[in-house]
Formats: sequence, C-alpha cells, structure tokens
Amino acid sequence: KVVCVTGASGYIASWLVKFLLSRGYTVKASVRDPSDPKKTQHLVSLEGAKERLHLFKADLLEEGSFDSAIDGCHGVFHTASPFFHDVKDPQVELIDPAVKGTLNVLNSCTKASSVKRVVVTSSMAAVAYNGKPRTPDVTVDETWFSDPELCETSKMWYVLSKTLAEDTAWKLAKEKGLDIVTINPAMVIGPLLQPTLNTSAAAVLNLINGAKTFPNSSFGWVNVKDVANAHIQVFEVPSANGRYCLVERVVHHSEIVNILRELYPNLPLPERCVDENPYVPTYQVSKEKTRSLGIDYIPLKVSIKETVESLKERGFIH
Ligand code: NDP
Repeated sequence: KVVCVTGASGYIASWLVKFLLSRGYTVKASVRDPSDPKKTQHLVSLEGAKERLHLFKADLLEEGSFDSAIDGCHGVFHTASPFFHDVKDPQVELIDPAVKGTLNVLNSCTKASSVKRVVVTSSMAAVAYNGKPRTPDVTVDETWFSDPELCETSKMWYVLSKTLAEDTAWKLAKEKGLDIVTINPAMVIGPLLQPTLNTSAAAVLNLINGAKTFPNSSFGWVNVKDVANAHIQVFEVPSANGRYCLVERVVHHSEIVNILRELYPNLPLPERCVDENPYVPTYQVSKEKTRSLGIDYIPLKVSIKETVESLKERGFIH
C-alpha cells in the first residue's frame, strides 16, 4: 500500500515514516527542502527507505503543491504545521501555513480518487482551551473544542492555529465527503530521530539547561512512538472515526522536575516555580477512545528518560 506523509522531516512524522516503512508501506514523503541533509538524511537511512521511500518537495502555502506527493496514495497523513512559540507575525508564521496548508493538502486528497482516508495531526490545543474549568475532577474528552475567540484574546497563537486548522479540516471533509480522522496529542516527548531540536522536546531540555525556575503550567504528555502508532492504527482500523485525544498523564511542570530529579540526581534542576501563584491545576483526559484502538501508553517516566538520553546523544546536553 502507498501512503503520503506531509512534513515528513518533523519530529512526529519521522517516527511515523519509520513505523510505516517497517510495516511494509511505500511512503511518499513531502519535505520543504529535499536538498537539505538535516531534513532528509535521517529519513533516507531508515530501514526500507532505499526501496520504498520517495521524497517530494512541497510547501503548505503553495496551492497544488502536494498533488504529486498525494496522487496514487491510499492514505494520507497530514502532519506538517509550524510549531513554535516565538513569533512576530502569528498570521503569516502560524495561522496561514496551518489553515491554508490544511486546505491545500485536503484539496489534493479530493483530487486523488485513490485516497481512502486522511489522518490529520491536530492537537490537544484544538480541544482543551474553551474557558471551561480544568481541575483534577474534570475529564476532558473528544467532545471538547477550543474556542478561537478565547485563543485570540489570550494571544495563544499556536493554539489558535491548530484550532482553526482542525475546524477547516472538518468543514472541508464534510463538504467534499472526505473520510478524515484526527489525532489530538498533548505535549509529545520521547526519542528524537531528527538531528534538530523540536519545540516539545525543548520543553524538557529547557528544564535541564541551567534554568532557575520551572513554568507554572500543567500539560498532558505523551510518547512520540505512541503518537506515531496511533496515526497508523486509525488509518488501518476501518471503524476508527472522529477525533482521538492522546495523553498518558497531565502533570504540572513541578512534577516533571521531580521525575527528572529521581532519574538524574546530579543534573542541575530548577528549584522553584517562575511565579508565586498557586500551581495551575491538572485535569484528566479520557482514554476511552484510544483504549478502543488498543493503545497502551508508555509511562511518562519512561518518556522523560528517553527524551533526556536522546538529547544527550545528540549533544544538546553536555
Ligand atoms: P516539527 O517542528 O518537528 O515538525 C513540523 C513539520 O511541519 C516540519 O516537517 C516542517 O517542515 C513542517 N512545516 C512547517 N511549515 C511548513 C510549510 N510552510 N510548508 C511545509 N511544511 C512545513 O513538529 P512536530 O513533529 O512536533 O509536529 C508535527 C505535527 O504535530 C504538527 O501538526 C503539530 O502541530 C502537531 N502536534 C505536535 C505536538 C508536539 O508536542 N510535538 C503536540 C500536538 C500536535 P520543515 O522541516 O521544512 O521546517
């Protein structure tokens, strides 16, 4: 079977390509710059790549850019979307590529009659930010949708980009009769395959690179291998549908520091919170839907250890 992965050089997508190749798929992988070895070397050296990996150049902002990568594919995994926080022009840097990119990719899918299902990498960012209280007794599930207005007034630009992108995907899918499923992961950590640092692995690195304080925030966390596998599961299981929240556990940053201290007693770790406010509470995320796919989450402690070991191996920690 032939599938397409957009943004194949990224953190999550690299694991997805690796697992797809190992399951015997032929993978048409889109990257922005196929001539940049930092973006492609780790992909072309994967097992099975020589025989079954094909690279395509495509940009989210160029209409029709994904046509040739998607043509002839049975499945499409749309992972490409900018993920960073330090932005000057959120519309240009985050929202346009996320939303127009989703439109471009899904339009290419409607042109290719071979495409049976599209798996869209959305995010918990598109789920949990709607102003409803999130406390330890509250369970967030797939029926929650983030509120774009709230994202805008709170200047949560990345969260807004993912919320609008998922909304665009569902509207277009309905209009064109496209079978889509979304994967909505929380903060993704675990080993890196690519040589560059991505935003979510940086969240762990930032705690061990001499920081004096940790952020006052609570996030869900999930292992990149579980996220990549879930993408394949929802493609392969015909009854999979709708959205799938992927979270092993929601914890406050202080708890991440505690786990790091337990694992690495000699690492210099931040001792105090960045502010003196009460800790932002944790909450539950329903695992019911992902359990129906048979997903058994890698424990957070293991994910943190894998992240640190991988960051060491790549020279990000000295
Ligand atoms: P990465 O930054 O590693 O990957 C992002 C990918 O998007 C890169 O391949 C990048 O290409 C591509 N991209 C960005 N802008 C463009 C563009 N204009 N045209 C073409 N490609 C573009 O991030 P992740 O692997 O973490 O994220 C992958 C997906 O998962 C995203 O949709 C993200 O929103 C989502 N996600 C991530 C989470 C996380 O914690 N990591 C949590 C929830 C969702 P290039 O390499 O050329 O820059």
